[in-house]
Order: sequence, then C-alpha cells, then structure tokens
Amino acid sequence: MPVKTHYGHWIGGRWRAPANGHYPVINPATEETVGQAPEADGAQVGRAVTAARAAYEDWARTDPRERAAVLDRIADLLVEHGKDLVPLLQAETGATLHVASTLQVPTAADRFRRYARGAVEPDTVPLAPQPVKASPLAPGGLIGAAAVRRPVGVVGCITSYNFPIVNLAGKVAPALAMGNTVVAKPAPQDPLGCLELGPLLQVAGLPDGVFNVVTGSGAAAGEALVAHPDVDMISFTGSTAVGRRIARSAGDTMKRTLMELGGKGAAIVLEDADERVATSAIRAVGTTWSFHSGQICTAPTRALVHRSLYEKVVAGLRQYAGALTVGDPVDNSTVVGPLISAAQRDRVEEYIAGAVRQGARLVVGGTRPALPTGFFVAPTLLADVAPEMTVAQEELFGPVVVAIPFDDEDEAVRIANGTPYGLYDYVFSADAGRAWGLAARLRSGNVGINTVQRHPETPFGGFKESGVGRDGGSFGLHAYSELQSVVWPS
Ligand code: NAD
Repeated sequence: MPVKTHYGHWIGGRWRAPANGHYPVINPATEETVGQAPEADGAQVGRAVTAARAAYEDWARTDPRERAAVLDRIADLLVEHGKDLVPLLQAETGATLHVASTLQVPTAADRFRRYARGAVEPDTVPLAPQPVKASPLAPGGLIGAAAVRRPVGVVGCITSYNFPIVNLAGKVAPALAMGNTVVAKPAPQDPLGCLELGPLLQVAGLPDGVFNVVTGSGAAAGEALVAHPDVDMISFTGSTAVGRRIARSAGDTMKRTLMELGGKGAAIVLEDADERVATSAIRAVGTTWSFHSGQICTAPTRALVHRSLYEKVVAGLRQYAGALTVGDPVDNSTVVGPLISAAQRDRVEEYIAGAVRQGARLVVGGTRPALPTGFFVAPTLLADVAPEMTVAQEELFGPVVVAIPFDDEDEAVRIANGTPYGLYDYVFSADAGRAWGLAARLRSGNVGINTVQRHPETPFGGFKESGVGRDGGSFGLHAYSELQSVVWPS
C-alpha cells in the first residue's frame, strides 16, 4: 500500500482534490512534515454527504452476512497493511512504536472483526401478542408486535486525535454493520491514517459512497457536517467544550448524537490496600505517564489516597515516574513520547505552573526534557492538591497526575464526584465487595476495581459532562440504530 504525501478527500470511492488546498501534518517528535492533508470547504463536505446518502438505500438493504464478510475483510487488510500503516500512524500521532504497533492497527482490526459478528446479531425483539379491545380506532383482537432495529441513515463521525484509526473504527465498524453510511471527519492533527482507510475499505468490497473521509485544519469541516440537514446522526469523540457546541447545532435538525467526551478519572486507594493492591494502584496511576503521554480520556489522573497511605503512595509514584524513559518514540526503550503539538505542550505546562502558584507541591517533573526537537513534557506529579484547584478540576490531556489525600470513604466519593466529568474511575481495595459498593456511589460511566484493564464487551461512555450514549460491544451496535415498532393483527 503506497503511503501518499499529498492527500485528497475520499468521497464516493475516489480521491478528490481539496477545495482549499492542503495543510501540513506535523510529526510531534521530529517537528517534520509527515504529509499534506486536504482542506475541505462546506460544499465539499456537502458532496461527501450526498455520496453517503446516495449509497444508503442499497447498503442498508444488503444481506447482513454480506456486510459481515466486508467487515471481516477490512480487518484482514488492516493486519496485512500494518507494516505501512504503523509508521504513518506513529509519525502523525507521536505514539511510541510499541503503542503504535500493538494498539493502533491491531485494535482497529479487532473492532472491524467484532462488528462483522455485530452485523449478524439479532435485530428483532418479538413482543408477546396482547388482547386489545375494539375501539373507535380499530377492531379488537390479539395484536402482535415486534421492535426492530433499523439503521439511522447517514452518520457523521467526528473524532479526536490520539488513536485516530482506533477511534474511527469504533464508530465506523458498528455503523456499517447496522447498515448506515458514513462521512468521517478525523482530527486535524493526525488524519492521514484515517484517509488511508478509504481505499482499503474499497478493496475490502465496500461499495463506493458508503464510507467517505473529509478533513480540515480548523473547525469548519466538522461544523459543516454537523449542520448538514441530510446527516441523521453525529457520533463524536472529543472535548466536552466542542461536544457542547455540536449538541447545540445538532439540535437544530434533531440529529441523533453519540458523545464520547473528556474525563478526569479518579483512582481511589482505600486504607485497606495491602502491599500488592497499593503496588497495582501505583502502576495503574502510572499509566497516565506511560500510556501515550496521558493523552487518554480514561487516564486515572487524580490519585485519591487514604491519608494513612498517602506519603507511601506519593513516594511510589515519584519513583515510578522518575524511572520512565522520555524521548524518541521510535526508540524501543522509550516509554513517554511527545504531546501532539506545541500548543498542547504549552497548555499542559501552563496548568502545571498554575497548580504550583495555587500551592501544589511539585514532586517530580514539571520541566521540559532537554531534547533537540519535539513537544515533550516530563512525567509530572503534583501532591497536596486541593480538590477545587484548577489542575484537579479540568482535563489536561497530558502526563500529569495530581495526588489528593482523603480521610474517609464519604470524602473520597465527594472528591471523585466533584468535577463536571464522569468517564472512568478506579477503586483499589483489598476487599472487592467493599469496592463494588463504592462503585455504586461513583457518578461515572465506568469503574475499574483494582485494574485499568478493559473488557471489550462493556458499554463505554460517560456520566455527566463526559458524554451521552454508549460505545462498546452490542451496546455500540445499538447506538447506530433506530427502534421501529411493527404491529399486526394475529
Ligand atoms: P477536540 O474537541 O478539540 O476536537 C475533536 C474533533 O472535533 C476534531 O476532529 C475537531 O476538528 C472537531 N471539531 C472542533 N470544533 C468543532 C466544531 N465546532 N464542530 C464540529 N467539529 C469540531 O478534541 P481533541 O483535542 O482532538 O481531543 C482531545 C479530547 O478528546 C479530550 O477532551 C479527550 O478526553 C477526548 N477524548 C474522549 C474519548 C472518549 O472516548 N470519551 C476518547 C479520546 C479522546
């Protein structure tokens, strides 16, 4: 698969020259240009929507087994072309080679494979016949009915940077499995792997127009997609601020929305945590530094630790952070790579400086690593952070952990629930039953007990301002459907 330098938009099964020229996609580690991405204007977004609409009727009526076969072939092709895609994804995201090779392409392939099975999941829920009396509306009788899942129509998929093809696959695979057609608008920072999906899906047998990709360096392309009257649903992954704007605009045409937004995860370490549990808590919180430099919505960025264990856990975290190798993401020994852009690095640095000004204790990090190029922030731990400080309230999306002590479970719950977010929290305890009980008090869409590991079939999404709706497993499939009731006299 030849990787291009100047990309077009992928519309109706062909590359289309961009209406507004190109913009450079920058490698966050080397600061070199990875490739030139196309700039769409509103009319070009409109042409992608028209292509998706034209392809809808036929795709929605394909035999689900045929849709499943296409999705399986997409997964095969992703694996086959991994050797070309991994370097491209690595370069545009700045992910370490380890993360890019083990989690970007294989996870995207897994998602297409999962929803190949999704395409053939039952879509009809039979309802027991009910005796209904005659009325001025209709004669009485034993009335049969079923609830049937139908595709929503044309789905606009707008995604964030960090795991570009994984995020997109999490939307496109269930949407296509259900019989929808798609216009994708990936993040401006790392759109090239997503553009490469266009021809790959075509080779897998996807009819032209069923999957389209448009890009742009600013908000305009996404805004045009959300405002377009012929788009039935917007599936969005990104910040809460942008999600709010999208929800407002989508309301004008009553679009369905699925919103996967920001997070400010709390990892609560209870006083009963023994050595083993405390160590696993430190490793779990440490993923905020070691996994994609903390550019992860589910990261446990707030360590809430019972006061009896607080200094011990802070010391363990300091040691963990200090041992991580920061540097060139293509070097196998590197654990912490760069942030996506200079703007994001500056933003994270400003949060750290602000926290210190507000009285937080800088335990480790907080400096810019001495590297010749790249947008790096050293793994940073801030202790003695008060729950109301900006750094404990807002999402940074970087390698920064705040440690906050608590005295009892009620206080831990109050702090954990005390932000506008509610995406992913974690409880670390030697008593799983106690942790289960605590989970019920957390206003969070996901709770990990003694682990940051995932289960692929769980519903994934946020409470409060972390989102609306659920991805994941069959829940994700259903998100791309409308329920239709069908009623008949039996
Ligand atoms: P962002 O909100 O800035 O941008 C996300 C996408 O929205 C991009 O494609 C962007 O171009 C587009 N966009 C921007 N303004 C728009 C508008 N007015 N109308 C339509 N589209 C618009 O987010 P980001 O900086 O790319 O990503 C980081 C954020 O994503 C963090 O908040 C993170 O928590 C969140 N995220 C959430 C999940 C999840 O599953 N909950 C996963 C990954 C990232």
